Amino acid sequence: MRICPRCHKRREMGWRKHLCPFCRPNTGPCVSCGVIKRRPCRNQCAQCNCNSSVGLILNRLRAEFTPLNKYNEYLFDLYLAYVRRYKLTYSHPQQAKALIKILQTEKWPTINSWMQIYELSKTYRLLNYAGQGCAILKIGYMLQELNVLPPRSDEYGVKINAQLNLFDPTSKPTAENFANALLGANKAQATVHAYLYNLTNLERWAKTLSPTYNLMNLNQALIEKHLLWLANPPLNCNVKRLEGAISSFIPFYRYLEREKKILKSPCASIKRVRGAKALKICSPEQLRKLAAFLKNEHSNPEEALLITLVLIMGLTIGDLSHAQLSPENSERITIVLRRKPCTYGRHYYNRPQILHLPTHPPWFVKLQRRFYCNWRVHYSKVKWTYPRYPLILSQSFHSNRPISVEQIRLKIARGTLAATGATIPTPILRQTCGHLHTKKQDASTLTHLGWSPLVASFYTWLPRNYYVPKKIKKLN
Ligand SMILES: [Zn+2]
Ligand SMILES: [Zn+2]
Repeated sequence: MRICPRCHKRREMGWRKHLCPFCRPNTGPCVSCGVIKRRPCRNQCAQCNCNSSVGLILNRLRAEFTPLNKYNEYLFDLYLAYVRRYKLTYSHPQQAKALIKILQTEKWPTINSWMQIYELSKTYRLLNYAGQGCAILKIGYMLQELNVLPPRSDEYGVKINAQLNLFDPTSKPTAENFANALLGANKAQATVHAYLYNLTNLERWAKTLSPTYNLMNLNQALIEKHLLWLANPPLNCNVKRLEGAISSFIPFYRYLEREKKILKSPCASIKRVRGAKALKICSPEQLRKLAAFLKNEHSNPEEALLITLVLIMGLTIGDLSHAQLSPENSERITIVLRRKPCTYGRHYYNRPQILHLPTHPPWFVKLQRRFYCNWRVHYSKVKWTYPRYPLILSQSFHSNRPISVEQIRLKIARGTLAATGATIPTPILRQTCGHLHTKKQDASTLTHLGWSPLVASFYTWLPRNYYVPKKIKKLN
């Protein structure tokens, strides 16, 4: 802050500037955004000027566009709706022109998967001058908002293909057939990807011992050695990770045996590690601090509600990132959970889809009211085309698509840090929820809170250990 030599007021002068922003030539409040900036023309700042002139160019392009069919016209409108939510640049008309050229001449199939979007994106490469922001991916995001496409994070096709390319040329065809057989049996894509990941890991490890090894000629001793390598330093994989590796190898070698590629599975006598040996839960001290945080009227309502939903209702971070709100009722929050398609071995949802939050502890009612007030203010600023009411809104205000699980994890970590002075991971909170509901007694009630019957049964007899936080991590 310095004294301006022209207006003699004490103002923020800016680095190496002689006059304050109000007294500099061509500066003042922009007529569109109101920020005090340089105004090159029509009393607008450069960004707002660019926005309005590019907006006009896009309008002209839209008027001159003669699409091949109705579907292409519709796709172009989706592109424009997406682009207009952001700051426009002079590369947008170029991208729009390239898209028009394609949509005027070519007939696209009806898009109903992210894989199709990726393939189209690879064929046409409609990037802007900075090599970012493919026009076809933008259309994909809009189709996701329309519920035509699932969330992008659900698409594992690209990841599966990348994993298949890591196999040795001799074992790649077998791995491909294996993956196709699993997908044909309605296994979840994420599971298939995990199997392939573990198998490539095994093969690459075997190659370091001898280049002649591939997946087809490994024996039991080598597979056991690989598991020991995973369990020991520097990797130090936990029980869950080892369990994952073994349960990838067993079906693969069983498949090879069935297809008569090998005589006997090398995993036939390897024992599965089943489940954890103890449940890690929050200590009474941590629970007391968390309760104080939830009841405190000055805590962040979003973080407090997220912690409550995990700690009391047992929701997972996946549930939270896709949860939607019924916006009618302001006193009592109603959450609509996402229904993922059923896959092999997962036929039930173990939880009702619509969740009415309870109204009896008074602090919880207050928390819901505080959360709803903030949510409504936030939602009014979000730019959206089709109505959708995510429980947790994105910070960028550019869309009403679901936010990523990493963002949810970060919010919960921030909340637990504010409450207890250390971050508590979400799985620990959820296990505490299971423990609070069962107290080492009948755990069948957990099957109504989203747990599978097998995992719920662990809560009747597994010993409990208190969670000891590691050193405080810095959250960005
Ligand atoms: Zn001045
Ligand atoms: Zn402006």
